[in-house]
Amino acid sequence: MNIILQKALDGERISTAEALHLLNQADYRDVVKVADSIRHKKHPGNRVGYTAFRIINYTNVCEITCSFCSFCKPASSAEAYILNLEQIKQKTLEAKAKSANQIFLQGGVNKDIPLQYYIDVLKMLTQELGVTVRGFSPVELVRIAEFNNLPLEKLIEIFKEAGLSSVPGAGAEILSDRMRQILSPQKLSAQKWCDALAACHKLGLPGSANIVFGSCETPDEIVEHLDYVRKTQDIACNAGVAGFNSFVVWTFQKQTDKFPIRKVSGPEYLKLLALSRIFLDNVPHIEVSLLGMGLELGALGLRAGADDINSIVIEENVLRNHGVTTIEEAENFIRSAGFVPYYRTLNFEELQ
Ligand code: SF4
Repeated sequence: MNIILQKALDGERISTAEALHLLNQADYRDVVKVADSIRHKKHPGNRVGYTAFRIINYTNVCEITCSFCSFCKPASSAEAYILNLEQIKQKTLEAKAKSANQIFLQGGVNKDIPLQYYIDVLKMLTQELGVTVRGFSPVELVRIAEFNNLPLEKLIEIFKEAGLSSVPGAGAEILSDRMRQILSPQKLSAQKWCDALAACHKLGLPGSANIVFGSCETPDEIVEHLDYVRKTQDIACNAGVAGFNSFVVWTFQKQTDKFPIRKVSGPEYLKLLALSRIFLDNVPHIEVSLLGMGLELGALGLRAGADDINSIVIEENVLRNHGVTTIEEAENFIRSAGFVPYYRTLNFEELQ
């Protein structure tokens, strides 16, 4: 057995140099096998989690203009919108009718939206409609704080008080400043993305982290990304607060011609999924992306370190849906892959 993989199997943390070696040199089947063993040690019982939520994109106006995004519009566009409270309420009621009591709120970074709008939306969703809310990428939080001359920590407290219960860790893509210059020069630097989420964790808003790969990133940059996530999670663990409940491995989907994209093969995807399980020894759950990779590869991902499926999304404006769309489909998929499904919340609380 590869000495690095044996080390991981023995419960020792592997270094960035060792992760890079695995990524560059190891046979993906060996990495997958070890990741699967670690997954079963951490999560015995052959169980796989899933959840259901509705994404509500409250505005499509965004000043960040990431090169890969076809969703954002300038405020002057005829297609620009900001959903009003009634529209958000209707979308939420539709989600509840499909048994999804969780809302995932995501913009647009739109400086024309007043702070009170966010507070009213959060209160309506949580207090009037009784749903839980995950929302706001780090760049949204940082910019909303700046627009309102508030320290980030104060904004987090205001949103938490209004009902926000977790943050998605969106907008990471590749946490390498070279790649951020290519993909999203106006987004937060890699370190600022981590700092914003560390502040959320410290103030009681846990969430998830992800990687989106399949552009012109290098193996070193992939490992750099994993290292940023592990270090941010170490801060939460050392402080005794909840940080990243899970890590999701996504691939870029073609939306524009403004950035380089390459096809990610099944073995390449599975290897990174497995490496994430091995390297991120402090993140409890690893999610395989059915939305991006489809069901066949998703089933293999459940034998490559993942213990969760990135779940039923009732509306998704950013990715095409190749995943499951109902609770029944999610359970059938997990069972047909040879596992026992369980329903969990966005914060990984198990529901009966
Ligand atoms: S990906 Fe998000 S932050 Fe980037 S332009 Fe699109 S909406 Fe804005």
